[in-house]
Amino acid sequence: MTAFPLPRDLRGYGEHPPDVRWPGGARIAVSLVVNIEDGAERSVARGDVADDLGAHWLRHRAFPGQRDLDLESAFEYGARSGIWRVLRTLRRHGARATAFCCASALQANPSIAHALVRDRHEIADHGLDWDTHSALAPEVEADLMQRSRRIIEEITGVRPTTWYSRDGLTLHSRDAMIDEGFRYDSNSFDDDLPHDGADGLPLLVIPYAGDTNDSALLSQYPTAASFSSFLCSALEMLGSEARPGPAVLSVGLHPRIIGRPAYIAALDTFLTRVAESGAWIATRQEIADAWLSETAGG
Ligand SMILES: [Zn+2]
Repeated sequence: MTAFPLPRDLRGYGEHPPDVRWPGGARIAVSLVVNIEDGAERSVARGDVADDLGAHWLRHRAFPGQRDLDLESAFEYGARSGIWRVLRTLRRHGARATAFCCASALQANPSIAHALVRDRHEIADHGLDWDTHSALAPEVEADLMQRSRRIIEEITGVRPTTWYSRDGLTLHSRDAMIDEGFRYDSNSFDDDLPHDGADGLPLLVIPYAGDTNDSALLSQYPTAASFSSFLCSALEMLGSEARPGPAVLSVGLHPRIIGRPAYIAALDTFLTRVAESGAWIATRQEIADAWLSETAGG
């Protein structure tokens, strides 16, 4: 028989989340996350045994020991062209995002770092490289986290607010995040609202989202229209359903994908709808701060 409680929280706020509002009385906080990882992916060019297939160019296959210049170039598009189209679109809508930055991607193109700071986007740590942490020993992971945090701080002049793993946490990641001084955690998909850290850790969790994320373009969403429709459906549902409490709608964006000419309209359409809805577009740090101040003592 299973012993309770399990080391997981399957209850959360349940039917009665805190009935608070975001600044301006908004019911929905929209968090835009721009992933700066192009050029930080595994590649034969940097000495890995095979290339990373995360560019979502489906015709590609990993060729162990052999560079795939086409695949490399699909990532390069994000750093060379896509990011600027994304930043222009955000500027046009007056929208500030949280940038999940791989340190080596900023080293490869510091002008991206400068533009993110100039446009007042939040700087977050997405690792030294766009790599897997799942099997790392605790001291190795902590060392990587510290190195990436220092490099990002050096290039941007800003201390990253949080660390987000490419593909999940180890059992030690959150302790290392606290030791490194990160202010909140986004490594979760478990709720519509921020909540206290797992296992009583003093680290607020702001869940991220894998569905409202452009990484599914070319598979789930073949066109900009289908992706924007998916995002707008989430916005409308969260705004109209009869429930207590606010919500956070996280949207994940990748310059090599949403920055393509055919897809950027999805972001433009969604941001237009967000403005009409009265939702609050905020960085994740602003969401953390607002949540903590609204729920303090409650
Ligand atoms: Zn990412």
